[in-house]
Order: sequence, then structure tokens, then C-alpha cells
Amino acid sequence: FDINMEQLQLNEELGKGNYGTVKKVLHKPTNVAMAMKEIRLELDDAKLNAIIMELDILHRAVAPEIVEFYGAFFIESCVYYCMEYMDAGSLDKLLAAGVPEDVLARIAGCMVRGLKFLKDELQIIHRDVKPTNVLVNKKGEIKLCDFGVSGQLEKSLAKTNIGCQSYMAPERIKGESQNNLGTYTISSDVWSLGLSMIEIGLGKYPYPPETYSNVFAQLTAIVHGDPPSLPEDNYSPEARDWVAQCLVKAPDGRATYQQLLDHPFLQQDKKRKVDMVSWVERALEVRAEQLAEALQAQTPRSV
Ligand code: ATP
Ligand code: MG
Repeated sequence: FDINMEQLQLNEELGKGNYGTVKKVLHKPTNVAMAMKEIRLELDDAKLNAIIMELDILHRAVAPEIVEFYGAFFIESCVYYCMEYMDAGSLDKLLAAGVPEDVLARIAGCMVRGLKFLKDELQIIHRDVKPTNVLVNKKGEIKLCDFGVSGQLEKSLAKTNIGCQSYMAPERIKGESQNNLGTYTISSDVWSLGLSMIEIGLGKYPYPPETYSNVFAQLTAIVHGDPPSLPEDNYSPEARDWVAQCLVKAPDGRATYQQLLDHPFLQQDKKRKVDMVSWVERALEVRAEQLAEALQAQTPRSV
């Protein structure tokens, strides 16, 4: 069905990214809560129409590991994109309480199945695999969002900052600097998947900007340094090997999705029951405590 702005009641902001704002909205005709992303672009109507048409493929992206797409429309030079609302938010905000190995394996399995679905069924390379694009709900489901379906949309995004937290594979970093596009292959997503696993396991991004004097130094470390690994004291050799198979610097050396699924780390996961609901609950509690503390630190003490 077609969605338009008149049908939506706008609610609170869920977050901001580099390119736009995400709001919680209510689709009044169906009473469904949705997340609406606003992307501001300076384009003519023909290009905006092309983007809306390209986004249509998303109606076919229906899988348990993919955030459902409800529809898109544009007003003036903004594209509005409506998707399933995920009530526990993105994974990056749920890491402070720690992620035990069984939960890590469950997340890894969901991400690989989601990425494999996109590749096999829709011939889509995600291109933006990172913890903020992995969404979670209170049922304990893990789903991917924000994959690159629209070439026109991608071209129209103002590439402001690639720095800070780069999940880009070494070959892409090198490619970009030589102005050589087209170096993006499916295995570049596998690198980003591995790096996301490290961030989930460590609770923080493995190339922190504080450590490097500038973005160039940080990107140099990704291209020329040893790849990061999961901490030995918290994770089994199987888990560490799985991540190492993703973080091979030469793209051809990285594991395929099928190999990642067949690996003992995910084979063990298949046989196990994991209480994802309790993990999400606990992670949200810790998150709420952190936010309360941050708020308290901000408010001036009364005299
Ligand atoms: P980037 O702009 O680099 O992609 P990002 O992924 O953080 O970064 P957005 O995709 O704009 O930026 O999302 C902003 C935030 O909104 C996310 O970090 C997430 O917390 C929240 N969010 C996005 N989509 C949803 C959704 N469907 N349900 C709930 N929260 C969401
Ligand atoms: Mg995103």
C-alpha cells in the first residue's frame, strides 16, 4: 500500500545519522507504529522519482533478519522512508552491559543470514554494515537495515565525513583514496561484519579516534596494521576464529557467508537455546541507567 504524510502522526525522534533524522510515527489508517527516516537531498523531481522507484525493490526484502519496509514518498527535496519500528533501538546502544558468547553467536547468525538473503535473493550488497544499522526489538529479534538499494540515492548523498568510525574494508579505503570506485565486492561487507563483531564483543569501536591524531592515521592503521581480534578471556577459540575469518585483509582470503554459517561457532548456536529477551531487557536497563547518570551530571546541583 502507499503511504503518505497525511496518514502519519509524528512522534518522538529516535536518532540522527549523517544524512537524516529518524522519527517514530504512527500510521493512522492501520494503527501501526513505524520508524520514518527523513533524508534531505537537493534534487529535481525526476531524480527523486527514480529514487522512489529504486526503493520499491525493498518490498521484496522480506526475511526474518531484515527490517520490514513499508513505503517511501517525497516532499519537496526530502525522501521519507517508512520502516518497521524496532523498540529496543540499534545494537551500538545495547553493548554497555556486555555481550556473552551465546548472544554474540545469535547476533552473528542473524547478520550472516540477513546478508546472505540480500545477496542470494536480491543481488544486493549491503555496503553499510555496522552496529547502528543492526536493530533490535524486545522480542529479542535482530534485523538489518539501511542497505544500499538505490544507486541514485547513494550518488545524491552528500559524502560529508567518512572518518570517526570507519567500518570500511582496507581495499575500499585504498580504493577511495585512488578515486577508484567499483572495488566494492561482497567480501567488503564481510570485513564490516567482522569489525562489528569486535565492537559488539569489546563494547567499543576497535580503532578509537582518541588513539589516532587524525583520520588519516586511523585509516592507515586499518589498512596496514594487524586486524583486531576478540578478547581471549571472554570468548572461545571458535568465536575468535570466526571473527578472524572475516577480518582477513586480502578480500579473497575472507570467508564466504556459507563458510561462516558452517563454522563451528554458528553450528553450536543452532543447537543452543539463547534467552535473547532477557538479554535485551537487561541491556535496556543498563542503557536507561547510563542516560539517567548522564542527565544528572548535566543538571547543576542546587545550592
Ligand atoms: P549513518 O547516518 O552513518 O547511517 P546511523 O545508522 O546511526 O548512521 P540513521 O540510519 O539515520 O543513522 O539512524 C539514526 C538512529 O535512529 C539509529 O542509530 C537508531 O538508533 C535509530 N533508528 C533507525 N532506524 C530505526 C528503526 N527502524 N527503529 C528504531 N530505531 C531506529
Ligand atoms: Mg542507519
